[in-house]
Amino acid sequence: MSDYGDMCRDIRNARAEARAKHGVPCPECVAKLPKACPSILLPQQRCRIHGYRDPRPRTAETEYLRPAAQAERESATHPTKDTKDTKQ
Ligand SMILES: [Zn+2]
Repeated sequence: MSDYGDMCRDIRNARAEARAKHGVPCPECVAKLPKACPSILLPQQRCRIHGYRDPRPRTAETEYLRPAAQAERESATHPTKDTKDTKQ
């Protein structure tokens, strides 16, 4: 299982790197809330405060950088039956 752990760590590192590389501050945040920390948006990501959507197209490098909330919502639509069955 250490391979899986290594993979997770690699993904986390890659995500942090890509986020630093591709993330841009929400222009609405910068304009309207200059004293606050602006939301950092990746391509096609939406600012939770303003609903501003980053217009840049997704690239292969950034498409897996979905916000955690979105990933959770998508995984929730495919619930695993295993957990339910074993509890009976
Ligand atoms: Zn914003």
